[in-house]
Amino acid sequence: MANDGATIEALFSEGRKFEPPSHLKETAAINSADIYRQGEDYERYWAEQAERIRWRRRWDKVLDWSNPPFARWFDGATLNVTESCLDRHAATTPDKVAYYFEGEEGDTRTLTYAALLGEVCKLANGLSSLGVTKGDRVAIYMGMVPEFPVALLACARIGAVHSVVFGGFSPEALADRINDAQAKVLITCDQSRRKGQLVELKAFADRALESAPSVEHVVVVERTGNAVALKPERDITYAALTADQPSTREATETSSEDPLYILYTSGTTGRPKGILHTTGGYLVGVATTHAEVFDLRSDDVYWCTADIGWVTGHSYIVYGPLANGATSVLYEGVPDYPDKDRYWSIIEKYKVTQLYTAPTSIRTFMKWGTEFPDRHDMSSLRIIGTVGEPINPEAWMWYRRVIGHDRCPVVDTWWQTETGNMMISPLPAVTATKPGSATIPLPGIGADIVNDDGDSVPLGGGGYLVLTHPWPAMARTIFGDPDRFVETYWTRFSDPGAGVWRYFAGDGAKRDEDGYYWLLGRVDDVMNVSGHRISTLEVESALVDHPAVAEAAVIGRNDPITGQAIAAFVTLRSGVEGNETLLLELRDHVADKIGKIARPASIVFTDELPKTRSGKIMRRLLRDISEQRKLGDVTTLANADVVQEIANRAQSMR
Ligand code: ATP
Ligand code: MG
Repeated sequence: MANDGATIEALFSEGRKFEPPSHLKETAAINSADIYRQGEDYERYWAEQAERIRWRRRWDKVLDWSNPPFARWFDGATLNVTESCLDRHAATTPDKVAYYFEGEEGDTRTLTYAALLGEVCKLANGLSSLGVTKGDRVAIYMGMVPEFPVALLACARIGAVHSVVFGGFSPEALADRINDAQAKVLITCDQSRRKGQLVELKAFADRALESAPSVEHVVVVERTGNAVALKPERDITYAALTADQPSTREATETSSEDPLYILYTSGTTGRPKGILHTTGGYLVGVATTHAEVFDLRSDDVYWCTADIGWVTGHSYIVYGPLANGATSVLYEGVPDYPDKDRYWSIIEKYKVTQLYTAPTSIRTFMKWGTEFPDRHDMSSLRIIGTVGEPINPEAWMWYRRVIGHDRCPVVDTWWQTETGNMMISPLPAVTATKPGSATIPLPGIGADIVNDDGDSVPLGGGGYLVLTHPWPAMARTIFGDPDRFVETYWTRFSDPGAGVWRYFAGDGAKRDEDGYYWLLGRVDDVMNVSGHRISTLEVESALVDHPAVAEAAVIGRNDPITGQAIAAFVTLRSGVEGNETLLLELRDHVADKIGKIARPASIVFTDELPKTRSGKIMRRLLRDISEQRKLGDVTTLANADVVQEIANRAQSMR
């Protein structure tokens, strides 16, 4: 195969295609491809979508791009995002459920829009009594309980900027993020529940605060009610803070470009970046995409299984669904507590219509087998979504067949903390889907694939994914580090002299003859084997295509002869044993499926792969192990033991 060295080679070919089901075409609000044409005039498109939310003062200008790459959307407008998310629904449909909360132990709580607004106002008043005012940063470190969305919204109510730190992070990681944002108040829980265990959130927070002096007050939600130490003057329980506060609070007026939150990226590729999002454009972006991609209808029960600690939770558990007046499920715990069918029992119980989850979970469900979903009636589901990593075609097919019963379109949504909302995804009643492809950019979004020189790669080829024009929910900067913002995303494929600004996503992708995008993973992960640039994802997908394999991670390790050699790490499905015969079979399977050049030089069987706390495979650590280097930044690693385990196995194979 010829290789000009400028692009990523496209090896894997996938021929299956699924048209939108006819029942959806007939009933969905968006059921015509015209919408893509409307999206081409993107400023106008987003200005129309801006009618979805409530403004106090209208904008003077839809987009101010006079100081690229620092965009201003709906400039001159004012609003408070909570008026769109709460007040207007509390006025028109006060008894509509905003959240069905399901605790891990089976306890439940239902919050209507009226009740949610009341809670938010009480906490907003409480925070304000602690001295929090517009522009102050508030750190939030919680388990998945109803007070979690309340905390975000209470900050937004008074114009404070929230900085959520995922509740699975260590005290050190929490301290780093508090210090970076210089947060004044921390909201946490006494403890959180996870897989039948208690996580000592307050104790962790206390440790973090030893080295995070900016925090003046700590608000403690009593989730379990077990005694935890409260430091006098500094700490107050949520109950005590809110008890005497009125359940109304005038919303603080913010400008469209005032900051709404800071959120750190997952840290899959290195040190996390503190992404800053603002109010007006962000809310327009998440409300629009949530409605479009999930074909949202008024009586739906929508469930996003992410944690609010990640951008998926911010955009698609809190802001998007609430702006749209949706009813959501909020689940506290893990998928395998008390048993491996917990998700499916929740879907049956609440008659969930849309499920939004991650490839890491889907691969885990595949590993466990079909008996768990098969126990439940999931006929309420209409659309099933995925986000977070590329999804291998076989995992996609499994999701469609076993969870979606071949009836629900799979919406594979590509986006990032930085993009704020989904960028490449099918529209379920319009866009035909292909297993493993995120399909095409959403209306109002511009994307391209370019080679090293920045030239657009013709259909059929692979290269670097770029976004070609601004969009409302785009990150405005990296908090406190605008230079890093420009350098990381806006330098490599932009040409300021020529007025060309292209956002570099850091991901590789290829486009097929239909113009469909296939995400190929991080460009840092692309391998170079005897001069061929091969995506790790394609080799992984070939491995997952084998019936014995549940999950695979592939890396290129230095090799004196081929430049890099392909090293694979494979997790098998339940009940399959990893032996020498299977190893040879897998190598041949990859060679058959995508070519001899991609045959792994080594395969290590492992029960788990190293992942970030958001569930993404950390290939860079596997590279470090394979090349016997000191491990890079591990602060976002979820399962430290497994790294040692894999290192031992890899060592014994040498
Ligand atoms: P860091 O930027 O700190 O390395 P991260 O990139 O994992 O961490 P996130 O913003 O949580 O942080 O994740 C965005 C990335 O996740 C995307 O750039 C992409 O690599 C991957 N991703 C998300 N959704 C998809 C998808 N549907 N298909 C392919 N990749 C996806
Ligand atoms: Mg990233």
